[in-house]
Amino acid sequence: MKTSKFITFIKDGNNFLSYNTINGNSIRLGATYTDGKDFLYPNLDASMLAQLEKMHFIVDDHDDEQAFVRNRFQNMQNQFDETLYITIEITTACNLSCGFCYQSDWDKRTCITSQTVDSLFGMIQKSDLSHYREINLDLIGGEPMLHQDIVVTIYEKFQELCEAQSLKLSLKLNTNGCLLTPALLSKLRHTDIMLPYLVSQDYDSLITFRNKKNTKKVIEQLRENIKEWTDILNAEPTNCLIFRFNANHNNIHHIANFFHEIASYKLENYQIEIVNTKNYEQTTFVNHLSDKDFTHWYIETVLPLCHSHKLKLPIKPRNALSRCKGRRMGSFKLFADGRIGLCNGINYNPALPLITQLGNLSEINTLYREEKTYNYVIDNPKCATCKMVFLCGGDSPCGHTKCSTDLEPLKKFVLMKSKL
Ligand code: SF4
Ligand code: SF4
Repeated sequence: MKTSKFITFIKDGNNFLSYNTINGNSIRLGATYTDGKDFLYPNLDASMLAQLEKMHFIVDDHDDEQAFVRNRFQNMQNQFDETLYITIEITTACNLSCGFCYQSDWDKRTCITSQTVDSLFGMIQKSDLSHYREINLDLIGGEPMLHQDIVVTIYEKFQELCEAQSLKLSLKLNTNGCLLTPALLSKLRHTDIMLPYLVSQDYDSLITFRNKKNTKKVIEQLRENIKEWTDILNAEPTNCLIFRFNANHNNIHHIANFFHEIASYKLENYQIEIVNTKNYEQTTFVNHLSDKDFTHWYIETVLPLCHSHKLKLPIKPRNALSRCKGRRMGSFKLFADGRIGLCNGINYNPALPLITQLGNLSEINTLYREEKTYNYVIDNPKCATCKMVFLCGGDSPCGHTKCSTDLEPLKKFVLMKSKL
């Protein structure tokens, strides 16, 4: 027997946490059973060995674990490919003007036309959907609610199509919430409503309505809107309001208030999303919070708050294949002007093909054949044999994932979680 190469040991006082990067499980062991570098095999009895083997903490002496990695990734890829992800940019225009928005300097504002929506449905209807079980729509802007009629049309058309083909329909609706009406909300099912949320102390620091004097009024109105949505949301458990906290060097000090405020809405089903605000050349707001400090703050401060508010952790160490939507078969993004892209992380390019030029989904797979595979992990000898492969999930087309051998954040995370 030998220890799996995907196990790491984390010191915790006089004990050690043995952490399994494949599935995120950890086992606390005293110095009798591990020296922090490996298990002390002579001290493990037969039942402990059997349990450790079952949980893939230990493997046979001759097992190089390549077959395990390949099977695991193949199964996950099959599972991933059962969902068709379609990101639709409804418009590039917005009723707010956030200082951190990457679209802030765009002078050309576009809205999706009904012809483009028709072409989208024409293309989907001509496609073989038999191997999908679900369609996930991600509606984005600008602010999609500037065109509620189009949002409703797209949603209802997809509902009809999914019903006819026995597919589940799920929706992610990205909105600033100012224009989202109870009437629309009550139509939605299996929907995550992604809402950026500002705590009272941050009224003036980040988000600025076009007429800056109105900022406070707009945010107060949003609070009233959320109160109005509460009964509707509580009546439909498949919907979830996800409050996004765009962290920066100022507002991280107000995080406890953020948790307190969102809890006060008394929603039965809500979650949080936390991101470190990215700086773009064109944005007016500059965030001085480094990613390293963000991670430290998240582990030290946000994890305990999530625990005390009984909320799902918004960021966990990855223990699997990359969830990159761009890699999934058929999945694509439709820009508001009708061009086809891979996903939200890849910039707009006027040379991209128009939806009218594509006959069906398999042509999207041909167009992006380099990206539409997860084999890059198991066919690349560097990744296939890499001890970090479950934490990293492999490279991504947007280049977000680069080899990192820094295990310190993971160790801090596991230690903090074990204390909660
Ligand atoms: S990981 Fe990158 S390429 Fe993949 S879906 Fe996310 S942004 Fe797109
Ligand atoms: S990209 Fe680098 S860290 Fe990630 S699995 Fe491949 S070799 Fe390992």
